[in-house]
Amino acid sequence: MKACNLYGIGDLRYEDHPVPVPGPGEVLLQIKAAGICGSDIPRVFEKGTYHFPTIPGHEFAGVIVDAAEQDRDLLGKRAAVFPLIPCGKCAACQIGEYPLCADYDYYGSRRDGAFAEYIAVKKWNLVPLPDSVSFEHAAMCEPCAVAIHALSQTGISLGDTVMIFGAGPIGLLAAQIAEAWGAETVILADVDEAKLNFAKEMGFIHTVNSRNADTSDYVRSVTGQRGADVVLEAAGVSAALEESLKAAKTFGKVVLMGNPAGNMNISQKAYWEILRKQLTLKGTWNSSYNDSKNDWRLAIKCMEQGIFQLEKMISHRFSLADCNKAFELARRKDEFYVKIMFVS
Ligand SMILES: [Zn+2]
Ligand SMILES: [Zn+2]
Repeated sequence: MKACNLYGIGDLRYEDHPVPVPGPGEVLLQIKAAGICGSDIPRVFEKGTYHFPTIPGHEFAGVIVDAAEQDRDLLGKRAAVFPLIPCGKCAACQIGEYPLCADYDYYGSRRDGAFAEYIAVKKWNLVPLPDSVSFEHAAMCEPCAVAIHALSQTGISLGDTVMIFGAGPIGLLAAQIAEAWGAETVILADVDEAKLNFAKEMGFIHTVNSRNADTSDYVRSVTGQRGADVVLEAAGVSAALEESLKAAKTFGKVVLMGNPAGNMNISQKAYWEILRKQLTLKGTWNSSYNDSKNDWRLAIKCMEQGIFQLEKMISHRFSLADCNKAFELARRKDEFYVKIMFVS
């Protein structure tokens, strides 16, 4: 088969690779769509994978083309894949919160992933797809599940004002799910005008550029001076955290989702916002994936119901052979993109 294999930092090669042989409890998936995640860009250009060579790619969907004798019924079934393989032993695993596992394996970073024609995946990780959900949409199951999980931490109520700092793919997905969840007003803030323009194209009328406007003034002007009921910090930078605390109403909730690239510092004044407004701060990480709470199956359900505008969000499609072109586009950021996807 063909695969994009990472041999070192910045050294991604499109090459021949043996088709993986499914082991016990695994099936062979022919990959139909695989998205480039924001985390793949530093993975390829700065940090590398855990060992080299490794095939990156953890947001994907495909069709099952080989399975053990007892799993023949799975042949031809379409699926997305939850990319984390939990240890099954740690405290998080004991309570079924596998995405919080302390000692996990991971398709596309710790072991081979989906920028290839085929992958052997564990049956446990398969998320079945209904016919109405395309492979490309299903390959966005991870960011959708992460957005759903983040919103479910907020205790959002009907009619709430939800403010989201960071209008990247997950911020946009969170905005869509917030509306579906009954938010009356959704406000998106970012420093990138192109992202805000795209948010407007998606139908979000309340956007604010935090580089040239005071976001808390804006949120107050929209909410009759009250502030936002729920704020989602999806940027992972100190300034956005500071503004999130200011934008929240008294007794408001602030959910911290953005993965910081460095230290997060806030001013004394912003700290007082937490105290004086008795804010609730809540962290969110990854998603839930178990039988009783499964953000992945819920994400697919939402796709079936047309809650996410995924078609609009897939801005670029490449074949695997053009993997370096695709990653260069993602790295340079001189051309606007939302989701870049490999399709076959
Ligand atoms: Zn991802
Ligand atoms: Zn574990």
